[in-house]
Amino acid sequence: IAYALAGAKAKKYSYKRIPYWVFRQNGQVHIVAPSAGHLFTLSTDLKGYPVVDYRWVPRWIENRKSLFSKRFLELMEFLCKGAIAFINACDYDIEGSVIGFLVIMSFGNLRNAYRMKFSSLTITEIRNAFRNLSPLDWNMIEAGLCRHELDWLWGINLSRALSHIVSKALGKRLILSAGRVQSPTLTEAVRIITQRRLHIPEPLYYPKIFLELNGRMLTPEFTGKPFPNKAVLQSILMKIKYEPYAFVKSVDVHIKSLAPPHPFNLSDLQTEAYRLLRIGPARTQKVAEDLYLDALISYPRTNSQKLPPTLDNNSIMKSLSKMPKYTDLVRILMNEVRGVLKPNNGPKEDPAHPAIYPTGVLPKQLPPLHEKLYDIITRRYLATFSLPARIREIKVVLDIHGLNFVLKSVHIVNRGWLKYYPFIDLGPTVPEIAKIRKGMKLYVTKAQILTRYTSPPPPLTKLSLLKWMEHVGIGTESTRAEIIEILFKRQYLHSKGKRVEVSDLGIAVAYLLADLFPHIVDIGLTRKFEEYMELIREGRLKREVVVKEAKILIKKLIEEIKREERRAIEVLAKYLSTDTVKNPCPICGRERQGKYFCIFHEKALTRIRDNFLKWNSTGYDWQEYLEKIRSLKITGLWVREVAEFLLKNRLD
Ligand SMILES: [Zn+2]
Repeated sequence: IAYALAGAKAKKYSYKRIPYWVFRQNGQVHIVAPSAGHLFTLSTDLKGYPVVDYRWVPRWIENRKSLFSKRFLELMEFLCKGAIAFINACDYDIEGSVIGFLVIMSFGNLRNAYRMKFSSLTITEIRNAFRNLSPLDWNMIEAGLCRHELDWLWGINLSRALSHIVSKALGKRLILSAGRVQSPTLTEAVRIITQRRLHIPEPLYYPKIFLELNGRMLTPEFTGKPFPNKAVLQSILMKIKYEPYAFVKSVDVHIKSLAPPHPFNLSDLQTEAYRLLRIGPARTQKVAEDLYLDALISYPRTNSQKLPPTLDNNSIMKSLSKMPKYTDLVRILMNEVRGVLKPNNGPKEDPAHPAIYPTGVLPKQLPPLHEKLYDIITRRYLATFSLPARIREIKVVLDIHGLNFVLKSVHIVNRGWLKYYPFIDLGPTVPEIAKIRKGMKLYVTKAQILTRYTSPPPPLTKLSLLKWMEHVGIGTESTRAEIIEILFKRQYLHSKGKRVEVSDLGIAVAYLLADLFPHIVDIGLTRKFEEYMELIREGRLKREVVVKEAKILIKKLIEEIKREERRAIEVLAKYLSTDTVKNPCPICGRERQGKYFCIFHEKALTRIRDNFLKWNSTGYDWQEYLEKIRSLKITGLWVREVAEFLLKNRLD
C-alpha cells in the first residue's frame, strides 16, 4: 500500500522488528503499518457456565499461539500516539472492518477515523481508495462485532457444557468444542456418514447391448427401469438371440445454445477448482488469497457473480494480452465481440465486492497450483464476455423387443465461449450416429446382463459439506471453509483420501446434541441469526438487540443442558464406548441396546433382515446373502461388520 501511494519515496522503518513505512504527501506525514489478522479477541474471567459477560482483550494474552501478534499490537500503540487521523486500510470485508476498528478504538481516535475501500490491490485502485476516503463503515463493523459476540457466546458456553458432561461420563477430563455454525455442520456430516454405514446394496439387472454400425461398435444406453428379477430379463435376452435387431423408433436433432458462464464468486471458484484440480475449498481460498495479495486478482471472498459497469475491462484485456498464453485468445475475443465487453453477470450479489476477475497485473513466476488457479480465473473472465456456444445434439431412440435404448452424439456447431473455457464435458461425438435414420433396423451383435447394486448416498467431501452450508444458509462465504477445517482440528472429522469420514467422538457429539439439545443443531436457529447479521450490515437492525436476544437464548439452552446432565451421561454411553459401559456391543464396545448389539449395529441387523427377501427372490439363501454383502465394496461399514459377525458366530 505504501509503495502504491508513494513509490520509492516510501521509507521503510521498523519497531521491535516489525516493519512500517513513512512518506510525505501534500505536506503531511503518512505512516502505513501492518496488522497480523485480529489483534484482539473476546475473553472472560468468569469460570463455569452459562457465561454472558465478556470484553475485548489483546489476542496474545488469551491465546498462547497468538504470541506473535504482541509486537504488532505494540507497534500500533506506538504509532498511534503521535497521530492525528487514522485510516483503516484492511481488506474491505466484515473482518477487515473489525480489525481496524478495534485498533483505532483502543489506541487512536474514532472521531478522526476513515476507511479505504478497494476490491483489488492494484496501484490504481489503492490510489483511488486513498483519494476517496470514506467514513468508518459502521454497519459492517457492527455486523462483524455481532458475529464475534454470537460465536463467542455459543462457542464458550456449549463447549464448556459439553466438555463437562463428556468428562463426567468418561471419568477423565476432555476438552470438547461446539459452536453456532460448527455443530449443525457436524450433525449433517454424521447424518450422511450414518446413512452410508447402514447401506445395504440391492442387486438390479440391466440389459447391455452391442450394435455394429459401419464397422464401429456402439453400446446404447438402456433408459428403462432396471429389473429386480433376473429371470424376466433372461427371457427377453433369449428373444433377442433369436431375432437380433434394434428398430430405430426416432431420431431427434436439437440445436442447443449454451450461455457463457457467469463471472466467478468464491463458491463457484471452489467448485470448479475441486472439479478440475481436485483441491479442497479451504486450499482454493488460500491460493486465491495469495493471488489477491500479489494484486493479480480481485478480492476472492465474494458472493457476487457480477462485474461492475465501472470496471475497465478494456485495459485489463490489453494487459492480459501481454502474456503469450492469452495473446491470441484476447485478440480473438475482441474481434468476436467487436470491442464491446459485456459480461454475462449472474444473479448472486455481494454488497462489498464484485465477482473475481484478473486485475491485469502480470504474474511473475508462480508456483504450479497458483498458476493453474490463475489460469482458470482468467479463462473464466474471458469466457463470460464471449458468445454462446452452439451444439447439435443427436438422440436416437431404439426399441429392442420392448426395451428402450438411446444413442447420443454431440457436435459443436459454434465453439463460442468454449474457446476460452474449454473445461466442459459435453459428451462424445460419434459420427456414425449422425447417419442413422428413423425406421432403420440395426444388427445386435451381442446382448448380456449387467448386475449393478444400489449405491449409498455419495461420499462426503469438504466441498459437498461447504455446498450444504451454502444451501441451507449458515456461515458466510469467507468462514465456511474455515469452519470445516475446525471440525478436522477437533478430530470430529478426518480425511480418507479425498473423502471425509467422522470419528467415534464426532458421532457421539453429534448424536448427543441431536438427542438432547436439538435447538443447538437446528439450522433454522443458526440461519435466523445469520439473517439478523445481514440486517445489521444493511443498517436495519441494532447489534444490541440481537446480542440481547442471543444471551437470553443461550442462558435458556444452558439451563436446559444442566437439567439434562444425568440423562446426557446415560445417552453418551449409547454412542461412545466408555469404561462405564456395562453391557458392551461385541463389535464396537458401545452400550448394547438390542439383543446383540449397540444402537448402530442393531439398526444394521434390522436392515439386513428386512432386505433378505429381495435377495432371496433372486436365488440367494441366507448364508450366501451374508457372504455377498460382506464382500461387496459398497456395503455400509456397520452392515458389513454385522454380516461378518453373524457368519463367524453362525447366528441368524
Ligand atoms: Zn456396535
